[in-house]
Amino acid sequence: MMSVQITCTSCGSGIEVHPDQHSHKVDCTICKHVMDVKFTKEHEEGILKECPVCTRQDFYKQKDFNRKIGVALFVIAAVLSIWTYGLSLVALYLVDLFLFKKLSLVAICYKCRTNFRNLANMAEIREYDHEMNDRIVYSDHDFKGKPLSH
Ligand SMILES: [Zn+2]
Ligand SMILES: [Zn+2]
Repeated sequence: MMSVQITCTSCGSGIEVHPDQHSHKVDCTICKHVMDVKFTKEHEEGILKECPVCTRQDFYKQKDFNRKIGVALFVIAAVLSIWTYGLSLVALYLVDLFLFKKLSLVAICYKCRTNFRNLANMAEIREYDHEMNDRIVYSDHDFKGKPLSH
């Protein structure tokens, strides 16, 4: 099932929700701020065409990497390397390689930065485009789901 992580517009916390076409409001678990969402049947089926938060259709995908876990692992490996003569760092490298291959993808809305996981149509989401990002974020351009054309 698609899992959606909305960024609270009031306090910036990440709020996890699952699509439900009957729920029109999401409240932040941290600051109780209430936000409007518009889930459709497509969302319930894991298909992302329109953002349930800002109703835009421009998304990009990237590897779903948890930076906090990565940093913690590196610190542990670095400390252990004193006793393992650096072998733990080699092990970390191998773990990293393994994890990297297994990493899933996350789709992100250019406009409101909502994250979408477990999409049925992830293959349709394009890679990050720097120019599109700038035009959406700074000039409020709406590409309506179309790729950038010159
Ligand atoms: Zn909040
Ligand atoms: Zn959005």
